[in-house]
Amino acid sequence: MDGTTPTLSRCVNLVLLGPPGAGKGTQARLLQERFGLMQLSTGDLLRSAVAAGTPAGQAAKSVMESGGLVPDAVVIAILRDRLAADDCAAGVIFDGFPRTIAQAEALDAMMAGQGRQITAAVSLEVDDAAMVARVSGRFTCTACGEGYHDSFKRPGTPGRCDVCGGAEFARRADDTPKTVTARLAAYHAETAPLIAYYARRGTLECVDAMAPITTVSETLTAVVARTLA
Ligand code: AMP
Repeated sequence: MDGTTPTLSRCVNLVLLGPPGAGKGTQARLLQERFGLMQLSTGDLLRSAVAAGTPAGQAAKSVMESGGLVPDAVVIAILRDRLAADDCAAGVIFDGFPRTIAQAEALDAMMAGQGRQITAAVSLEVDDAAMVARVSGRFTCTACGEGYHDSFKRPGTPGRCDVCGGAEFARRADDTPKTVTARLAAYHAETAPLIAYYARRGTLECVDAMAPITTVSETLTAVVARTLA
């Protein structure tokens, strides 16, 4: 957040839906910078739990390596703890959560318990066939988290992050063609039904996420602005 971050007149809580590679993380980061909302990525929370060797991390590790979904109870518990923190009070972008109907129902209950609600659920619509290439080539700066891609977005100076100048980059262990295929299958079987779930609640917005990152970002900014109107 900087001096140009607009102050939101009411609490915005946004769910980003979409298969791996749709750009949920990238767009959540941009919204966080633009509006001061907190990005909550259950993938990031789970990777931290795995790295720390917590019981939740131990339960999640092999499932994540195979591209399947971590059990609802594990993910919901980890999300509930994080959501209770003060830095989530001004509004949240849920990135990668919920991924099942049970998680969506748990999220609704958690939000209601805090006197809050999901203001919009955005489905980032993409062409599945393009996702394996998108995900397989991606890497991030370990210092600032800026995302890059072997084909679509290389650093301006090879080996140096455009944003912070960092020289170390990381690739996720599950960003392999085989695992991405399993993650796409899990998305269609378990997560895509959430599109109808949020449509029934009147909170669904669909966005063409094959468009350039800046175009998608402008559309999402408009969605946030609309939910405030
Ligand atoms: P992501 O970083 O969102 O791509 O998530 C990476 C992996 O973490 C997924 O392939 C799942 O194994 C696991 N994961 C993340 N979020 C969830 C969730 N909400 N429910 C179940 N598994 C999850």
